[in-house]
Amino acid sequence: MARISNEQIMEIRNSVNIVDVVSEYVPLVQKGKNYFGICPFHDDHNPSMSVTSDKQMFKCFVCGVGGNVFTFLMEYEHISFLEAVKKIADKVNIALDIGPTYRKSNSHLSKYYEMYDLSMKFYQNNLNTASGKEALDYLKKRDIDEEIIKEFNIGISFMGDKIYRMLKANKYNDEDIVESGLCNVNDKGYYDNFFNRIMFPLHDINGKVVAFSGRIYNTTDSSKYVNSKESPIFKKSQMLYNYHRVRDSVRKTGQVIIVEGFMDVIALYKVGINNVLATMGTAVTADQARLIKKMSSDVILMFDGDKAGNKATISCSEELQKIGVTPKIVRLEDKLDPDDYIEKYGLDKLKEHIENPISLIDYKMIVYKEDKNFKNSNDVSNYINEVIKELKLVKDNIVRDLTLQKLSDETGVSLTTIASLLTKEENTEKKTIKVVKTTPKKVDRYQKAYQGLLFYMLRYKEVIRIVDESNVFIPSKQHRYVACEIVSFYEKYGQINMADFIAYLGDKKELVDIVNQLFDLPLPEEYIREEIDDYIKVLNEYTINLEIKRLEEVLKNSNSDIDKASIANKIMELKKGVDNNG
Ligand SMILES: [Zn+2]
Repeated sequence: MARISNEQIMEIRNSVNIVDVVSEYVPLVQKGKNYFGICPFHDDHNPSMSVTSDKQMFKCFVCGVGGNVFTFLMEYEHISFLEAVKKIADKVNIALDIGPTYRKSNSHLSKYYEMYDLSMKFYQNNLNTASGKEALDYLKKRDIDEEIIKEFNIGISFMGDKIYRMLKANKYNDEDIVESGLCNVNDKGYYDNFFNRIMFPLHDINGKVVAFSGRIYNTTDSSKYVNSKESPIFKKSQMLYNYHRVRDSVRKTGQVIIVEGFMDVIALYKVGINNVLATMGTAVTADQARLIKKMSSDVILMFDGDKAGNKATISCSEELQKIGVTPKIVRLEDKLDPDDYIEKYGLDKLKEHIENPISLIDYKMIVYKEDKNFKNSNDVSNYINEVIKELKLVKDNIVRDLTLQKLSDETGVSLTTIASLLTKEENTEKKTIKVVKTTPKKVDRYQKAYQGLLFYMLRYKEVIRIVDESNVFIPSKQHRYVACEIVSFYEKYGQINMADFIAYLGDKKELVDIVNQLFDLPLPEEYIREEIDDYIKVLNEYTINLEIKRLEEVLKNSNSDIDKASIANKIMELKKGVDNNG
């Protein structure tokens, strides 16, 4: 990897205005000195993200995401620090070489990424050979043309050990090749894990190939799809098919559609619907839900119309609701998947569905009703209670009223009774929330002191000097690291500037997070010398108390009377020091 100097990074940061860069992604409105916009990192309805031109920082006051222009790009585009620097450099025409083999701070994984990339190209190339013709014809029959083959990097695997030999020729060792999941070994030797299958590469959220799904095409005596097993670079729970491709179309439509498999994504892409992600299965994880939310909080779930699809819809909507997103639902008739649906009913009918998704509560009412017999009063009671539990999560008053009315119409139970059930359910809810709220987060005086010191160190070089000379000990390890980094930044550049300092921290995400937390502490911008001295005093007291505790421990375990006397003496001296201090 080519080394880029801190000076270069700062020059690049200074060559753009964060307000201009952020407004390419999020519309900003100026209010006073700052700019505000809808935060892209949480489900925001009021502009909670502020961007300051004089500090060259951004910050969301709700979800807490913040930093400089590089942090914004890293978060928004899911790219590494160096990739963010490169992006800005390209924008302002500063030549910068971040190295061709650079992989997001996981350099020990780069060999796996490379092996997958090589294999993808190998499979793609196979498709253009004479032996690939049968597969190519099969794809064409399924309306997968050249353009789609290219866009989705589709290829074909052949029998034998061709991938193994190709990887060996590229100087990878046997152990790594097997670990990658591309090949395996038995008593006859090494062999490829995928053979005679049409190969669909699966990319991670950064667009790197990390796995394959192989589909049969010229036989029926094998399972239809075989997927890569988890590997050092492939974690199924963090994978969403098509994630790296949809950003632009999601930005255009404001909406993201979630489907079950990658063939659904391709089927929709064929007809010009591009804002689609696939969960690659019916169980949706919390990680996947968070990624979906990051993309857009306007979510449509369009899983297959069968039982498994129902289950997936419920599980996915639960994960999304936990993080504040209520998805809308499209159910396709006749238990069809999107591809078959378009075949049977045509594109227009599908589009009509997408434009008119049903609300989650309406969908759940349909599902809950399915196994109920309304002539049985127990079933009616269960049904009403199930719906009420869902309704509690709905904030829209109109939807609530309409649903209560609908419930009453369907079941013949009076509206008053049903409404009172909802009130009761909500009151129990409120009680539980109250209990949670009575335990406020405790910020002790030591924490207040070191946070205060760092807050002003990030703003005033005089404070850096005072703190550095005081030799004060900061009890939190991460905050101590930040303080050290501030001091070395200042020693190097003779000044302090938060946006440059964050650039200086680069990929050290935990430290950047701390700086962001410090950014908007409710403290006055100007510092008072006495206050700084107070902070230092408080922290010194902490150190002394720590030493007293340690000595008391030694005292307890000591057998010699002389030692005991001397330790007791030391403790007394220290205690005096604390008293004088305070
Ligand atoms: Zn936010």
